[in-house]
Amino acid sequence: MKHGLSRRRFIASAAVSMVPSAVAIAQPKGKGLMGMLMSEPQSSESKGKTDWKDAGVLDLSNSPYAKLKTVPIRAVVIQDGFWSQRRKTNLVASIPSMHDELLEHGRLDNFLRLTGKSNEPQKGPVFSDSDLYKWTEAVGFQLQVGDQAELKKKTDAIIRDVVAIQEPSGYLNTYYVDDRKSLRMQYDVQTTGHELYCIGHMLQGAIAYYRATGDPTLLDAGIRFVDNFLIPNYGPGINQKGIVSGHPEIEMALIELSRTTGNPKYTELAGYILHGDSRIPLRPQQVSYMFCGIPFTTRTKLEGHAVRAMYACCGATDYYLETGDQDYWKTLNVLWNDLSAHQLYINGGVGARATGEAFGDAYELPNAQAYGESCAAIGNMMWNWRMLAASGDAKFTDVIERALYNGINSGMSLDGKTYCYRNPLAFDPSGESRDRHLVDGKIRNAWYDTTCCPPNLERTFASLSGYFYSTSADGVYVHLYDNSEMNWHLHDGKALKVKQETNYPWSGDVKITVSPATPGDFVIYLRIPGWSVKNSVKVNGKEIAGAKAGEYFAIRRRWAENDMLDLSFDMTTHLLKANPAVTEDRGRVAFQRGPIVFCMEHLDQPDHDAGMSLAGYTVQPASETTAHFEPHLLDGVMVLTHAGTISKTATDAPLYFPASTPKAPESPTTVKLIPYYAWANRTPSSMQVWIPYKEV
Ligand SMILES: [Zn+2]
Repeated sequence: MKHGLSRRRFIASAAVSMVPSAVAIAQPKGKGLMGMLMSEPQSSESKGKTDWKDAGVLDLSNSPYAKLKTVPIRAVVIQDGFWSQRRKTNLVASIPSMHDELLEHGRLDNFLRLTGKSNEPQKGPVFSDSDLYKWTEAVGFQLQVGDQAELKKKTDAIIRDVVAIQEPSGYLNTYYVDDRKSLRMQYDVQTTGHELYCIGHMLQGAIAYYRATGDPTLLDAGIRFVDNFLIPNYGPGINQKGIVSGHPEIEMALIELSRTTGNPKYTELAGYILHGDSRIPLRPQQVSYMFCGIPFTTRTKLEGHAVRAMYACCGATDYYLETGDQDYWKTLNVLWNDLSAHQLYINGGVGARATGEAFGDAYELPNAQAYGESCAAIGNMMWNWRMLAASGDAKFTDVIERALYNGINSGMSLDGKTYCYRNPLAFDPSGESRDRHLVDGKIRNAWYDTTCCPPNLERTFASLSGYFYSTSADGVYVHLYDNSEMNWHLHDGKALKVKQETNYPWSGDVKITVSPATPGDFVIYLRIPGWSVKNSVKVNGKEIAGAKAGEYFAIRRRWAENDMLDLSFDMTTHLLKANPAVTEDRGRVAFQRGPIVFCMEHLDQPDHDAGMSLAGYTVQPASETTAHFEPHLLDGVMVLTHAGTISKTATDAPLYFPASTPKAPESPTTVKLIPYYAWANRTPSSMQVWIPYKEV
């Protein structure tokens, strides 16, 4: 590739770090985005640039190893259906209430204090600046789908207050000031201080805002930090100090900055960070916990802090998308196989352990103790989105869908004002003493002092339309199904409209109208979900054979205006078992219908008042599951019912007793299940996803 990023050259410079870097990463000061975009390319390696209106969630337009290219968020309108309510709530309740929470908890005062506009002391943990940036990113995505004058005005004001504290050196952080100034970028501070994590979120927020408005104010501040403060002082060169990201995030942000500016030097810097710098002394447990600091390509399993690992994988996949480095691709696939074989919860969540918010051992997937941080499920989706772009393989989309509809969607309450930090798969509201995230038995709360998850959920839902489609050299990929309309174009510039009409995920029928501006030959790749065993695909009423679960079904033909596709997916409810190595799931089944994972909440069970616990229930796998839609329950959900038994005295048994003891008497019951994402939206109640079963 003409701009193939010089990985070998980079590795050489990073590995022999006592030699000045061969990578020319010095940059004229204070040039800003507009200066960069208007000037001649920085070097022969500079890439093409996308108009700010045409970039997607990521801008893969010029990424040489992206098989799939993103479609702009603004090119897809999600219409009335499953996601529209969530997205409306996000806009009218979540984003505004989080704005107020951020202000109330001093997140903006932290900035105002430094320009004399506030007398409040610094508040919040070291990474507090990132909360505001992630919220700004949510606003940026939201403004990409429609004008919101009031919201834009508020955000413009916040951006002005943020930019105002930038020091002449380019440094910008509200925590490492005054007495803490001398700590900046010290090696031990880099591992825990989140300075570059904050700047990573600033860059992502700035890029989303720029792609919404064309306003580069925040982006220019981010560029000044990187160009004026970071690059001259930190990197692989003999006169530079080393970088360890501490909490990976800066890697993917820098690569998106390259995509936005057309300047590959930021990707090269990300590559250096992903490689690690051996000059920085790190203990093995730090390397494991932080998922950075050693060459990414030496990783063999997911471990450590789950969000750190997922964000590192995002950055590494971004690096592959730009460089085609096969060592990265191999490692990424090894890690993904570890994810899918050993570490992925059925709700798409990751990170089993509360201690260290970390991955556990293989198959260590507890239910009540599951951590499953909302941010980790989001990181999982973001990583799989990048793996999908690199490969076009539907196995990655299956993970995206599993996480999105379940372990991410559960993170925000139905009214959009409270959030789960943890997303366990079983719950007892009396467990408060063990769970620092529970307040008054409530797992959903409006505010956490570590408030990473709420704005992360907001930015995900605000950007959702950007995940529906991709384009490829020969056509268009359809990843997600919901009522929507795409107005975009193929790679040859041919305008294309795709309209979906469906009641997905409650129904498996999807009607798609394809309208190219002029008739033409191209391929439509339809995602056939991995859970859909029996499928039907018709083109203009005629059945086309060959659709297989877990693959993209390629339909190559001459398409013309108003061509019709009728898809029918298999909505049979599946009772799933886990690998026996998952000890907590032994003897239990989980219910999944379409992409939706279900759970039992005690308050829905007929005898929930009798002082009994969920421990007394079993289901009978041989019985049939009935599904019916309840429009007034939990904003309208499909409800499952299944034959089971209830033992009223099961929980009266002593802690241990002879195996020969006669079983407690059981009576038949009907177990009622609701979608997992909607749990904990009523009175606190026990919940379980994995339900004991009894063959009869
Ligand atoms: Zn979080």
